[in-house]
Amino acid sequence: MKSEVITVGTELLLGRIENTNARFIADQLTQLGIESYFQTVVGDNETRIITALKQAATRCNLIIICGGLGPTNDDKTLSAVAKYLGVELKVDQRQFSQIENYFTRQHRPMAPENIKQAQYLTGAQKLKNDVGLALGDFFYNNTDTAVAVLPGPPAEMKTMFLNHLIPVLRQVYPIKQQLTSRVLRFYGISESVLMHQLDDSVTKSDNPSIASYAKNHEILIRLTAPGDNEEQINCLLDETQRKILIRVGEFYYGNGTENSLAKEVVTNLRQRGLTITAAESLTGGLFQSSICGIAGASNIFNGGFVTYANDAKKDLLQIDPQIIDQYGVVSRQTAIAMAMGSRRIMNADIGISFTGVAGPDSLEGNLAGTVWIGLDVKGETTVAKLVQLPQSDSRQAIREKSVLTGLQMILSRLK
Ligand code: ATP
Repeated sequence: MKSEVITVGTELLLGRIENTNARFIADQLTQLGIESYFQTVVGDNETRIITALKQAATRCNLIIICGGLGPTNDDKTLSAVAKYLGVELKVDQRQFSQIENYFTRQHRPMAPENIKQAQYLTGAQKLKNDVGLALGDFFYNNTDTAVAVLPGPPAEMKTMFLNHLIPVLRQVYPIKQQLTSRVLRFYGISESVLMHQLDDSVTKSDNPSIASYAKNHEILIRLTAPGDNEEQINCLLDETQRKILIRVGEFYYGNGTENSLAKEVVTNLRQRGLTITAAESLTGGLFQSSICGIAGASNIFNGGFVTYANDAKKDLLQIDPQIIDQYGVVSRQTAIAMAMGSRRIMNADIGISFTGVAGPDSLEGNLAGTVWIGLDVKGETTVAKLVQLPQSDSRQAIREKSVLTGLQMILSRLK
């Protein structure tokens, strides 16, 4: 069973948006045991969409085409698929009424073009859109290459794929063996060092197969195992995870594709009923923003400080001015004073601080990438850690890595 994903959108071709839909679909197909052979990106142009469909049909049994189902003139996908298949487009009256009702509820006039979103391919199975207006389609006639048509907005595409396309694919294709994946997340170690430290019995194993990749300064390891017995597969994945963590457990913080260090920290603090605050210099609020990006942050975070200038550190955090004058702003002593000041003023259980050089220039003799992170936990000795990041890193990378290191320090302290 060979498949091809065609994503439609001129903005994709111009590099204005990331093609996350192709990634999601390819990942889902792999999990379903459907081979993903090709991916094509094509602009909003009917002739070229038809050419892409014809080419895909010469080499695959299943085409998934996604994007360009909107009401506007540049949305050409459905008409192109209809021409390619040689079928008419029809209007689904129920869907059309739903679209009309949607506009009535919004107190907005409906443009006549919106009727396009209620259209479907004659002979196709309609795919419901649970979160948007445009219908999707699955066209299959037993002999030719099947075509699934999905909308472009990622939330619509994903829900339609998971809720409506997968059940249809399972009906049409006897999917022999399902693949189950588990993603292990690591921070603070490079991909090559991490893989080097693993045992051959893990890295050379076919079942589960193991693949590593780097993402946003983190390393992810994906374990994938085929089979139908969920319990058996989970035992196998548990055992491999255990072997991996024996070697590199100190850099591991959690599982899951949607997980993050910030999420782990928020979850752990919530479970323990602890609150946190921060005093940020070079990170300029990035730490607090990463915490606030997690649902439920209000339970553990009341507020904090962005103290970029020395005066702000002295005034807002009530730091003894002599500390900065004597030891410098990028120093263990300043980091500790910032963390303690923030925790005391906000009356939190944990105070974390970031002071360092985002670059590109040096500061007070400290190279770009020199960062001190202070951690003050109620009832414990306040500590500070020196992080020496590569001078060649961009300002943004230095700030992001500082935040991730801070989050990791909190997690290891909590655990
Ligand atoms: P709409 O009704 O919004 O026009 P549509 O089905 O026509 O939906 P597109 O116009 O192709 O879809 O895309 C709508 C939006 O969805 C785009 O502006 C973009 O933000 C996002 N999008 C489209 N294709 C992709 C993709 N392959 N990966 C990630 N995002 C995408």
